Amino acid sequence: KNVPVVTIDGPGGSGKGTVAGLLARELGWHLLDSGALYRLTALAAINHGVELDDEASLEVLAAHLDVQFLASDVEGGQVGIILEGEHVESAIRNEEVGAAASKVAALPAVRDALMSRQRAFAEAPGLVADGRDMGTVVFTDAPVKIYLTASAEERARRRQLQLQEQGQSVSLDRLLADIQARDERDSNRAVAPMKPADDAIVLDSTKLTIQEVLGRVLDTMRSRG
Ligand code: C5P
Repeated sequence: KNVPVVTIDGPGGSGKGTVAGLLARELGWHLLDSGALYRLTALAAINHGVELDDEASLEVLAAHLDVQFLASDVEGGQVGIILEGEHVESAIRNEEVGAAASKVAALPAVRDALMSRQRAFAEAPGLVADGRDMGTVVFTDAPVKIYLTASAEERARRRQLQLQEQGQSVSLDRLLADIQARDERDSNRAVAPMKPADDAIVLDSTKLTIQEVLGRVLDTMRSRG
């Protein structure tokens, strides 16, 4: 299949999810939020009482996830997500599920089980894929690869704002510690560690707005034809 793919990898809070959503909308392409698949696997494990280091059971859960991604008109190309008949879009976004996702994501059998599901998103007219290993493992032939970063302090600040908007208050120190722990686990795991692909363009969003980041991604797409 010769479907164009743009990969956007990087740590949580770098803005990659928002940029990927806006880009997919702008281009009229499909969107893969691969982190959601790891979060869904983690949530399914929590719901079914499966331990987060029980690789064999987690592999089965991941391979048979009963999930539907619903397209919606929401700004930013977001989608509704149904897991086993329940709306889980907000349930999978909390810190507990994020931390659990990063644990199950370190298991090779879980990553393998999710591979074909991820590749199936590459359908005409094109795909924007966001995650940690989109450019390095899942879509290695993608003509345009972006690695989006931002300082850990800035990412903690963004997360705090986001939580405040939802009426939750969490200290900056606590968020920074969580972010650093997750970065550490995602960067140092043996399989598919978080890192820029050799042919990725690295963008630092610390001092950029989302629109500026989007502009640079579109420039990169134009220059790579
Ligand atoms: O991007 P998001 O924060 O939703 O991802 C949740 C977790 O899923 C990450 O911390 C990471 O451990 C894992 N993940 C991954 N590979 C991807 C996407 C996410 O390992 N492609």
